[in-house]
Amino acid sequence: MARIIDTPLHEAGGSCDARAIHGAWGALDAAARRGLLYTPEVKAKTDHLYEKVKHVIPAIEWPAYAPLIAAINDMKRAKNAVVLAHNYMTSEIFHCVGDFRGDSLQLAREAAETEAAVIVQAGVHFMAETSKILAPEKTVLIPDLRAGCSLAASITGADVRLIKARYPDVPVVTYVNTSAEVKAESDVTCTSSNAAAVVEWAARTWNTDRVILIPDEYLARNVAAQTGVKIIAWHGRCEVHERFTAQDIAEMRAAHPGVVVLAHPECPPDVMAAADFAGSTAALQHYVEERRPAKVVLLTECSMSDNVAAASPSTDFVRPCNLCPHMKRISLEGIYDALRELKHEVTIPEDVRARARQAIQRMLDLPKEKPRAFKVGMPEAAVELV
Ligand code: SF4
Repeated sequence: MARIIDTPLHEAGGSCDARAIHGAWGALDAAARRGLLYTPEVKAKTDHLYEKVKHVIPAIEWPAYAPLIAAINDMKRAKNAVVLAHNYMTSEIFHCVGDFRGDSLQLAREAAETEAAVIVQAGVHFMAETSKILAPEKTVLIPDLRAGCSLAASITGADVRLIKARYPDVPVVTYVNTSAEVKAESDVTCTSSNAAAVVEWAARTWNTDRVILIPDEYLARNVAAQTGVKIIAWHGRCEVHERFTAQDIAEMRAAHPGVVVLAHPECPPDVMAAADFAGSTAALQHYVEERRPAKVVLLTECSMSDNVAAASPSTDFVRPCNLCPHMKRISLEGIYDALRELKHEVTIPEDVRARARQAIQRMLDLPKEKPRAFKVGMPEAAVELV
């Protein structure tokens, strides 16, 4: 059985234990207020789901979550709906109501292909917009309209127009963690799974040695270290990944001898240099499932450790407790209410949607490849900050 070892970072706020206790009480109260109880019927419908999360949810807490989980799964069948669950969702959402699970790229592909009439995005707002861009005929719901993203909030469509005016012949590669209006101003999108490949493709296609890669400054710096392409970058940051430091890694290695350190490319370059492996959330998951390290730390949003642990029982996870406050706005009761009332529907003006679709489609049309790992230990590469 995988062990979860919480090690709150000095900069990070509360611990994951505090979140778990609040989560169970919150779910219990929310279910009761909606008239949902832990009956023998609910137990029979959900016991098999508890098997998936028993390593992270204590048995005493399961009756708090199970009524909402059973009700959501019943409603999904009745309304021909699916839940797309991002890797950063808490385990009761990710494993128990998520129909499709993964990183931004995997969820975007599922949104484009699902036959369901309704998509509930268990993730943040830009992800729901991406689903609507790819599946305009479907009803796309976001359970909490406040589920934003510090990267998406760092840049606007008007900013991109100004950048393009300054660098008129340079292709614009935009990370998917952006609004639809920013994507609409872009030539092609990328995710952390394929950022280096898309940047190299854009340089070849536009026959240039320079590419604009926005809005994440650290992703841009890390891609610059991986490719021979000169990168023009924006100053956006992910408020979760920017907190990690090389000093944190040194302290974790000292406290947990032998721990394998895996980093997400939204982390600063000195963190990438000190890690053992780096890549997108899909690449990190793949690494753990394939290589089965005895002890690992994932330098990314901390719910990811819980979710990967389910498929990796022989690995112990050191969990640094960096929570994304935007992702954590998504709750079982929010998903239940969104489905019951079909509320918080995401809409995008058609001209914006069509232009954003073109940028995303260019990315999806590139050959499908295994998530590409980032090389670690690379010297920091210079970028031009706009
Ligand atoms: S983890 Fe970072 S990039 Fe992801 S939604 Fe939260 S703030 Fe945005």
